[in-house]
Amino acid sequence: MNLTILVIEDNEQNLYLTTFLLEKNGFRIVQSRNGTDGIEAAVRERPALIVLDINLPGADGYAVARALRGTRETANIPIVAVTSYAMPGDRERILAAGYTGYIEKPIDPGSFVAQVRSYLASADLRREHREEEGRG
Ligand code: MN
Repeated sequence: MNLTILVIEDNEQNLYLTTFLLEKNGFRIVQSRNGTDGIEAAVRERPALIVLDINLPGADGYAVARALRGTRETANIPIVAVTSYAMPGDRERILAAGYTGYIEKPIDPGSFVAQVRSYLASADLRREHREEEGRG
């Protein structure tokens, strides 16, 4: 079965591009255009990874990331921002909110999917580690 990725993004162009690139590479995409719907979709779909925009209508990405981290069903799902923020402190702010990491805008079609795959791979390693600790 294809891995599901949830994309929470209010910009139609970015939503289209990320969906297009990921679907072309065999992922199943669920789309949300605001944080409230996104949190619901995350709990329902249990995606392998969430691409979460920062500037969203209503609750912003930071608030959504904190909510996802605080919810049992979604606490361990990797969350990746796609952002053009590169100011000092933004990285720390993104990570402090609970994002796993970020991919820089503008989206580079040549490397975007590879970057997503690397976040998926590190999430696999962390899960194996948790499972080993659970056994020990
Ligand atoms: Mn946005």
